[in-house]
Amino acid sequence: MKVTILGARGSIPTEGKDMLEFGGGTSCVLVENHDQAIYLDAGTGMICTPDIGDKAISVLLTHPHLDHILGFPFFPYISNKDRKIDIYAGKCGDLGTFEQLEALYKNPFWPCGLKDYPSDVSFHDIEFPLNIGAFTVTGMPSVHPGGSLVYRLETDGRSVVYATDYEYEEDKVSELIEFSHDCDLLLFDAQYTDEEFEARRGFGHSTVAQGMMIMEKSGAKNIRFVHHDPRHTDDFLREMERPIKCATAAFARKDEVIIL
Ligand SMILES: [Zn+2]
Ligand SMILES: [Zn+2]
Repeated sequence: MKVTILGARGSIPTEGKDMLEFGGGTSCVLVENHDQAIYLDAGTGMICTPDIGDKAISVLLTHPHLDHILGFPFFPYISNKDRKIDIYAGKCGDLGTFEQLEALYKNPFWPCGLKDYPSDVSFHDIEFPLNIGAFTVTGMPSVHPGGSLVYRLETDGRSVVYATDYEYEEDKVSELIEFSHDCDLLLFDAQYTDEEFEARRGFGHSTVAQGMMIMEKSGAKNIRFVHHDPRHTDDFLREMERPIKCATAAFARKDEVIIL
């Protein structure tokens, strides 16, 4: 299993020379094996996808907040008439996957719908477990305003858990610890410093210390922190990372590749 960080920024895209190391593109992680390319979220990081050859394309959306769906119009493969793209998401109230994306990708917010692009785009309301090639995908509800999903992908005896847009709550965290049990890689939302977390309870994000605790209790072998705050520069993020940085724990950087 190969995991590539395409977008590690949260909430809104950023730019600037002090944002180059961790990157300004929003949430998107590419998970591949020999014949499947699975994109976790479709933030603006998706625009810079590497060449995936002729692998089948799936997109698993955690939730439809803008930073997780803004990459679609400039995703290179959506404009290729020979490609098929399967998009999966959980229900959002009464809205299925198609309705969630149609709400943004139509006039006056955007000139056309995702179905109007040359590729063959299909929308699916996700049910677990989901099989994508040799991958098995399971999920659990996140703790986030409006709801979101945490995904676990497994293949070939390897596993990755994608827990972005997740707010640590004492009485709910045991579910995530159990869900992440012995995973090879945990991608965890650490948007806030401890002080920011206290000031922004209810915003749906967590901290480094909370992620390290979940890593330890779940037995996750590696952790990468994602959903970097748009106000945090490279210097600031390196400083946040310094106390925990080691071979198995770090902040996710744009274009980082992790082989499991
Ligand atoms: Zn987000
Ligand atoms: Zn969100």
